[in-house]
Formats: sequence, structure tokens, C-alpha cells
Amino acid sequence: MAKSYDVVVIGGGPGGYAAAIKAAQLGMKTACIDMYINKDGNPALGGTCANVGCIPSKALLDSSWKYHEAKEGFAIHGIEAKTVKMNVPEMIKRKDGIVKKQTDGVAMLLKANGVDWLQGRGKLLSGKQVEFTPHEGDAETLDAGNVILAAGSEPISLPMAPLHEDMVVANAGALEFTEVPKKLGVIGAGIIGLELGSVWSRLGSEVVVIEAMDNFLPMVDRQVGKELLKNLKAQNIDVQLSARVTGTKIEKNKVKVEYSNADGDQSLVVDKLIVAVGRRPYTEDLFSADSGVNLDERGFIFVNHSCATEVPGVYAIGDIVRGPALAHKATEEGVMVAEIIAGHHTAINYDCIPSVIYTHPEVAWVGVTEEQIKSSGDAYKTGTFAFMANGRAAAANETAGFVKVIADEETDRVLGVHIVGPQASEIIMQAVIAMEFGASTEDLQMMVFAHPGLSEVLHEACLDVDGKAIHSAKRKRKK
Ligand code: FAD
Ligand code: NAD
Repeated sequence: MAKSYDVVVIGGGPGGYAAAIKAAQLGMKTACIDMYINKDGNPALGGTCANVGCIPSKALLDSSWKYHEAKEGFAIHGIEAKTVKMNVPEMIKRKDGIVKKQTDGVAMLLKANGVDWLQGRGKLLSGKQVEFTPHEGDAETLDAGNVILAAGSEPISLPMAPLHEDMVVANAGALEFTEVPKKLGVIGAGIIGLELGSVWSRLGSEVVVIEAMDNFLPMVDRQVGKELLKNLKAQNIDVQLSARVTGTKIEKNKVKVEYSNADGDQSLVVDKLIVAVGRRPYTEDLFSADSGVNLDERGFIFVNHSCATEVPGVYAIGDIVRGPALAHKATEEGVMVAEIIAGHHTAINYDCIPSVIYTHPEVAWVGVTEEQIKSSGDAYKTGTFAFMANGRAAAANETAGFVKVIADEETDRVLGVHIVGPQASEIIMQAVIAMEFGASTEDLQMMVFAHPGLSEVLHEACLDVDGKAIHSAKRKRKK
């Protein structure tokens, strides 16, 4: 007889494992099928995020930043560090240790919550049955009361720049270089390209980023994007916009990248090339043709606002469905779906999902950009305040960037907050909380912010909306 579960989750990334844990916590018999095999050849939970995404990239961003600071940033504090040396294999080993801790931690959590971790491939069949094919052994069919598809995404490949051993790599390979490439090429000035480009640039690589579009980070508020680009240039990261890659060749242990821009055909020779041109939903062999699940025109599994597919009792979450490809979005969708299955009424506020780019300075935002609100025709007002005028930022020698607040002209409700600067990834959460509670800029103006703190820049940006910033010599006229 087929094994039966209340909930079968396919995929053990931040969407799938969170859904499985929540379902089990709500009293449902739950299995989580995951097929990921890590570089040591072992099954590992945590998906892209824990294995080759968020966690390892942030580990390397932190290590490389510490090295960069020791080399370039200590002197101003009076600290002499003349013999700073980078041991890349040690840095990679530390990153691997962090990944292992995270992925083992997920396995421990599934166990502690009584979730069955099934190691192998899952496939949704008709009638909410799931075919489970273990890494070793025969396939079996599971009966599921509910199924949650959480198979994640995979890197988009470029036919003119095929991956090649450790020389032309996607995200996973770019986390494994054993020495600092003298010259590094990156195709795509998106989040992965800029974060991983930053890692190797800080360690000494000469980095050239080739971006097809003329618009740098189009999803980011234009003013913020401009400030980040200026800072990246100052770090010697060469971002070439409107540049189209036409081909790559491996020649004498180097990669020759051919591309064209407004000045005609160009070529670039690099030691390593990272291809980071976006990710696409991973739906390969995930459901049978008669399962009733459909894809939308962009290849995502078609779901409604509650992540329900067209088949009652079958849901899909995370990178495999519409919306930003972010780990926290996947997790919250997983939790929401488990709660819906348990009969709770719940929903995600998709307008309040923060995004962060972990460059230096960091970029973080939530809500509408100025370009979006301008094109909507709605009346709005803005306030900005620079970290340059903040005492804590000056004390830390971290004065690049600003906070920009966008509010409804009439109601004063905060509609968007955009930050480029130190600790942007943390400050943004204050904006998320404010927006979740429908705060106005006046609400934030009236709150007391601890001094000296970087968050005071958010406070002053809210004050600036009404021309009331204290630490500003610029007098803004009220509209
Ligand atoms: P995934 O994490 O992709 O997990 C899906 C899992 O399902 C995988 O383990 C896969 O092997 C498994 N699977 C697929 N098909 C099957 C099947 N048929 N049967 C069994 N198992 C299957 N996001 C952030 O929010 N912050 C960051 O800082 C961040 N940094 C990133 C850095 C990099 C380099 C990359 C590549 C991504 C980053 N992301 C970041 C994005 C984030 O990793 C994804 O949004 C997130 O992992 C999506 O979660 P998921 O659960 O939908 O899918
Ligand atoms: P992306 O969509 O952020 O950027 C891809 C870039 O490549 C775009 O600017 C695009 O115009 C460019 N591009 C596409 N084809 C090209 C070509 N042929 N030549 C040159 N440029 C080309 O994608 P990504 O950087 O691969 O990241 C994928 C997703 O992973 C992100 O959208 C994000 O959701 C997630 N992610 C998040 C974080 C984070 O939250 N900090 C970090 C990394 C990744």
C-alpha cells in the first residue's frame, strides 16, 4: 500500500523546508523530498540559498570585506596592518563550514519537528499522488492530502558563453575559486554579478562587468542605482553598460570574451568568467502532464495570490512562482501555504517585501521607486538625507550614500524607502515595519531614534519630506 502523508513538499530550500516545518508544527504528517547533492557527494537540505546562494555568498562577502578593510580601511583609524595576506583556500574552507552548519541545521530541524526527509526526486502525478525516486533504490508512490511544489530555480545559461570547468562558471563555481583571478569578467550587472564581482574585486581581481542593458539595476530607484554605480567605479569595478556578449573562447588557459557596444566589436581576456544573467524556474520533470498543474507564459508555475495552483490541494511557492526570487519571499510563502492547508486565514503583503544587494555600500529597498510612482501619475513627495551628515556614519568612516523616502502627497503614508549606505540591509527593516503598520512620514518624524545611530538617517529623511530635517543646511521649501 502507498505511504500516505497529509502534506508532501517537493524541494527542501528555504521555501520547501519552512513549509514542511510549519506543516508539521500544525500537526500534519509531513514529508519533504529533496534531491540536492552537495559537492562532497552528500544529500543536503537548504536548497540554493544555503548551498550555493545567500549563505556562501555572504560568507565570502564578509571575509573579503574584512580583508579589504584591513588593507585599505585600517590606516585611517591609526591601525598599521602592513602584512595583511589573503589565504583563499582558508576563506573557502570557512565558507564551506558555514554552509555545512546551515544545511545540517535544516536537517536537524526537520527531524526535531517529525518531518520525513526523503532523499531523491519527487514528481507530482494526477490525483495528488507523488512519485518519489530515491537516490538509490526503486521509485515509490506516495498519497498526499496536499502537495507543495518548491523546486526553486536554476541559472540561465548563455549559448554564446557555455560553462567551462572552473573557468566559465555560474554562481556555484564562482564560490569555489582557489586563488584570486588576476582579471575577472562577469556577464550581467545584476545582484549576483555585483555581489560576487565585489568579493573578488576586494581580494584584488580586476573586475569587468558586461551588462546588456543601458539601464543599471532597473528595479532599483534610479538615484540609488546611480550612487551605487559611482561607488563601484571608485572600487575599480568596471561596469560596461549596453554591452552584448557575442562569444567566448578558451585560449591558453584564459577566457576571451567577445562583445559589442556603441563603439563596435570589443574583446576582453580574463582568467575567470562568471555568467550571472538571471535565474529561471526549475520545473524539469516536476509534474506529469495529467497532474493538472500549468505554467504561465514565463515558465513559472501558475498560482493565485495564495500560491494555490489550479489543482485543489496543490500549491507552489518560492522561485518556481511569480514574484521576486528571494529566500525570505520563499519562506513566507511556505509558512503561509502550510497555514492555509491547516485552515487558517492568512496572506502575504507582497508590497512590503524588502530587497537587499550586499555590495559596499549596501542597497536596500521596499515599496515603490520614484520612477514607478511618477509613471503611475499619483501625487507624491520625497525626502532624502545623506549618511555624510550622520555622526555614527562619520565615526565609522562609512559616509557614502543616503536614505530616500517616498510618501503619498495627500495622506503622507510611506510608499517606498530606498537606501544606499552602511547597514542598509538592517535599516530597511524599520521601513518594512512602518509600512506594514501603514505609517505616515509624520509618524516616523515623531519617533525618537537612538543617537548616534545610522537609523537617524531614516528619521531625517522622513523629516526632510516636510523640509524639517535638523542636520541639514539645505532649506527645502514646502510644496
Ligand atoms: P531553492 O532554494 O532553489 O530550493 C529548491 C530545492 O528543491 C533544491 O534543493 C533542489 O535540488 C530541490 N528540487 C528541485 N526539483 C526537485 C525535485 N523534482 N525533487 C526533489 N527536489 C527537487 N535570496 C535572498 O533573499 N537573499 C540573498 O542574499 C540571496 N543571495 C543569493 C545568492 C546567490 C549566488 C544565488 C544564486 C541566489 C541568492 N538568493 C538570495 C536567492 C535565493 O537563493 C532563492 O530565492 C531561494 O533559494 C529560493 O528558494 P526556493 O525554496 O524557492 O528554492
Ligand atoms: P538578475 O536578474 O538580478 O540580473 C541579471 C542581469 O544580467 C540583468 O541586469 C540582465 O540585464 C543581464 N543580462 C541578461 N542577459 C545578458 C546578456 N546576454 N549579456 C549581458 N547581460 C545580460 O539575475 P542574477 O544576478 O543572476 O540573480 C538572479 C536572482 O537571484 C536575482 O534576481 C535575485 O532575485 C536573486 N538573488 C538575490 C540576492 C539578494 O537578495 N541579495 C543575491 C543574489 C541573487
